[in-house]
Amino acid sequence: MKYIFVTGGVVSSLGKGLTAAALGTLLENRGLKVTLQKFDPYLNVDPGTMSPFQHGEVYVLDDGAETDLDLGHYERFTNVKLTRLNNLTSGQVYQTVLDKERRGDYLGKTVQVIPHITDEIQNRIRQLAEQSKADIVITEIGGTTGDIEGLPFLEAIREFALNAGRDNVIFMHVTYVPFIKAAGELKTKPTQQSVAKLREIGIAPHILICRCEKPLDKELRQKISLFCNVPYEGVIEEKDVDHSIYEVPLMLQRERLDDMVCKLLNLETPLPNMTHWQDIVRKLIAPRHRVSIGVVGKYIELQDAYKSVYEAVIHGGIANDCGVEIVRVDAEDIERDGPDKLLKSLGGILVPGGFGERGIEGKIIAARYAREHKLPYLGLCLGMQIATIEFARNVLHLEKAHSTEFDPNTPHPVIGLQEDQKKVSKKGGTMRLGSQVCQLTVGSKASALYGAFFVHERHRHRYEFNNAYRDRFEKAGFSICGNTPDGKLAEVIEIPDHPFYIASQFHPEFQSKPNQPHPLFKGFIAAAHAEMHHRTL
Ligand code: GLN
Repeated sequence: MKYIFVTGGVVSSLGKGLTAAALGTLLENRGLKVTLQKFDPYLNVDPGTMSPFQHGEVYVLDDGAETDLDLGHYERFTNVKLTRLNNLTSGQVYQTVLDKERRGDYLGKTVQVIPHITDEIQNRIRQLAEQSKADIVITEIGGTTGDIEGLPFLEAIREFALNAGRDNVIFMHVTYVPFIKAAGELKTKPTQQSVAKLREIGIAPHILICRCEKPLDKELRQKISLFCNVPYEGVIEEKDVDHSIYEVPLMLQRERLDDMVCKLLNLETPLPNMTHWQDIVRKLIAPRHRVSIGVVGKYIELQDAYKSVYEAVIHGGIANDCGVEIVRVDAEDIERDGPDKLLKSLGGILVPGGFGERGIEGKIIAARYAREHKLPYLGLCLGMQIATIEFARNVLHLEKAHSTEFDPNTPHPVIGLQEDQKKVSKKGGTMRLGSQVCQLTVGSKASALYGAFFVHERHRHRYEFNNAYRDRFEKAGFSICGNTPDGKLAEVIEIPDHPFYIASQFHPEFQSKPNQPHPLFKGFIAAAHAEMHHRTL
């Protein structure tokens, strides 16, 4: 078993997760079985209780784990199916240790960060190694070297490496080489200092991934190699990508990162075959068609809040050889300025998941606009609830219809709390979570897109379609074409008399990959492209 530990230096947001994922792509394409794991130093048990403003998207796994968005990159870039073992927070580590302490497992001992917390961290690496049966475990340590809260994780991986043996462990440090305009050059000092910090803790990196805006020349690489005590070939340039994050594996391959890794770990494997990946990147750089998609949300100013949604839309574009311009529309702007100005030029409208009342009316206006103007609409989770409320109010004329999440006293609660949510009082990890089966109606557009009648999709919600209104909706042309196999829970709706109006209670975006675009996104982009094309004729 081989291990790669990925740390980050100088600043956050360098794309450590992306780099780890891209390395995963290369190693998988060399025929190795990899798995990826993320350690997050914060004290929350999982990111499920954090606002997107704090943490970006919460990425949901098949088993219902609410995890860091880097796990989304791992699943999109590789074939790994992740489980809750793949994301560990300080909160989980402390919870486990404190539970053991109360049980008396450490009876007589003083419970301490070293060795009890660090042992527990190492246990998780071993547990994943055993469960995954992977050749290589890539473990990313969140945060930046020098953070106080990250220290137990760094100590744990240092100890782990000591026991695992020299040929079996690589430390890869992702660092920043800034371009200083006034000097007109790239500067290596922050990298040197960050590596010094790591070495103080007892970790000497084997590989440095240098994030930079401009290319690293030979001299600079030599300098970094000398001052950081890393072999010349271990100094890897990772320049900002021009077009797409999916260029990163190819970029790192050109830098021979995977060669270096295999050499250090004594792995004899063929060179990776990346032709399919090159084809993906070609379609992203020079697509044959173009389309613009409006994403109507409330966190649109944040880069990361709808990460998987944006990625899945781009995958839908790849499937149609179509470059997608994503127009982020603030739902509150629609409330203020009306839909025409903001939505008129779009090929399709997407309303993603969300919680809380702000912007809800703007999203309802957007759904109405899409329905009435026959503009393709894709609703995800809250986006399906929005479509339901809109249809209730404007087609069924159920005045003040709403979700009880936003108006507990609505006369028409077309969306209400799920029965088994009514007894839930704790907030963490208590929604309807993870992969569930959905049965699609024969003859529906959704089943035609999937090419299947039973699909597994991931969930994260507390509210549901209120079955008391089912007949009225169905009779008026709002088809509930996806349901749990017991028929109790509405999972997919569509309006058959519309070019593309589909919404799901689940989150299809979590299962889309650049090389396996999700069928709903593929269909949505195809419809949006047809709509724009039609308009120009
Ligand atoms: N707030 C809604 C619910 O809890 C939708 C959740 C979501 O979009 N993920 O049901």
